[in-house]
Amino acid sequence: MVFNTDVATEVVKYARIVSEAGFTKGTWGNISVYLGDFIYITPSGYPYDLLKPEDIIVVDKQGNKLYGSLKPSSELPLHIEIYNNRKDINAIIHTHPVYSTVISLTVSEIPPIVEDAVMILGERLRVSEYALPGSWELAKNAFIALGQNNCVFLRNHGLVCVGENLHEAFIATQVAEKTAQIYIEALKIGKVIEIPQEHAKVLREKYLTSYKQK
Ligand code: 13P
Ligand code: ZN
Repeated sequence: MVFNTDVATEVVKYARIVSEAGFTKGTWGNISVYLGDFIYITPSGYPYDLLKPEDIIVVDKQGNKLYGSLKPSSELPLHIEIYNNRKDINAIIHTHPVYSTVISLTVSEIPPIVEDAVMILGERLRVSEYALPGSWELAKNAFIALGQNNCVFLRNHGLVCVGENLHEAFIATQVAEKTAQIYIEALKIGKVIEIPQEHAKVLREKYLTSYKQK
């Protein structure tokens, strides 16, 4: 295995962006990229502002370390479980944003309410069953609730967003957090009106098949 410095540099770049956007505080959250059967992942409990490309750890899909001197993220099982089950996904961003976490404490899903969320993330954005952070149980529960969506809220914990690349996973993180905020604010006013199910289906399908510039 040859360590790809460009990929590690990209992981560090997005780790900084995520931290500076306030989607995670302190050392929490983690980021990975999947490339050629290898997972490039951030170290566990390591300050984002000190992170350098050579601090990124490379593991195989069994979790064996192939490169790096630091411990990989404690959520490595979560990343492995998603890459094993979603061949369309090459990047994962796990964060602890405020509004997404409020959603993770209070409801079981966000229904289809706004166009961008439905298109980019999915029709119904589910909250996974609670499990201990870092466990295989959390990883399995997260994948069950993620399904074919691009985001899942982790019960009493935070948010996981996925994409074909880190840019897409980051946009998904922004849109998921914005949608969580919109839903919380809307619930304060009254009954939330949903996008009709058949329209939600059309919007999501359009995003997956024809919306993006190829
Ligand atoms: P790591 O620092 O081990 O990546 O984990 C932080 C976290 O968010 C656990 O859920
Ligand atoms: Zn976490």
